[in-house]
Amino acid sequence: MTSSNVISLEDVWVYYNETPALKAVSLDIRDGEFLGLIGPNGSGKTTLIRVILGLVKPDRGRVTVFGSPPDKLGRERRLIGYVPQRNLSDWSFPISVLDVVLMGRYGRIGLFRRPTSVDEEIALKSLEAVQMREYARRHLAQLSGGQQQRVMIARALAAEPRLLLLDEPAAGVDIHGEEQFYGLLKELKEKHGLTIVVVTHDIAVVSSHVEKLACLNQTLYIHASPDEVLTAGTLQKVYGCEVELLAHGRIPHRVVEEHH
Ligand code: ADP
Repeated sequence: MTSSNVISLEDVWVYYNETPALKAVSLDIRDGEFLGLIGPNGSGKTTLIRVILGLVKPDRGRVTVFGSPPDKLGRERRLIGYVPQRNLSDWSFPISVLDVVLMGRYGRIGLFRRPTSVDEEIALKSLEAVQMREYARRHLAQLSGGQQQRVMIARALAAEPRLLLLDEPAAGVDIHGEEQFYGLLKELKEKHGLTIVVVTHDIAVVSSHVEKLACLNQTLYIHASPDEVLTAGTLQKVYGCEVELLAHGRIPHRVVEEHH
């Protein structure tokens, strides 16, 4: 890998029992890249994120994150922010928005020390970055799905990461909210120089915001700009006949029609 790659995967294979979930995946993600990782359900997207986080060890291949294998990251682990899939049942817990975001500081302050006013200031700034500061004293359960998801991003930001991994962050949020959400990610990336990987199966919305798309269906089909991906017929290869349905009314028709 070169020093400008935050993540580098080389010929990565993952099997669950005898069944392959990832086959020969090679992928370099550069510093400051905003990447959408797309693919149908069960195509290995979460597995790939778990490989990057060091939670799944590949059966074959090489992975480096910030230049080290993810399970040997040490202090640099805290440079990775992770926003998992939305889980409503967890979020009915009676906890204030500010406390949720402060949890993002634990990696830095240690679990058994109390957060200081500096931690609180960073937590509030993180809420401000996602336009949620005025909700700091509310209970998480009182917020809408989209607002809760913003709080989860604030929590990840509070850890002051350089790499942000988000797994289906806008699931359950309406289209308008989704557009806003990806716009916000783009802004955060530009402001903080973050590298962002966002897992989604919503190609249409994500492709107007990210710089690169990686199309996964066990194997990686292409890693290129959204325009190149949409014109290369890659979506067909990855999704098969589902592509019409997915494209319906949301990917600019001009692009889709020109190449059918
Ligand atoms: P995606 O995130 O794209 O939906 P996943 O990475 O979650 O895909 O899953 C890829 C495949 O691996 C699926 O067929 C899934 O059933 C399987 N799988 C995922 N996690 C496990 C596991 N812990 N044990 C066995 N099979 C798994």
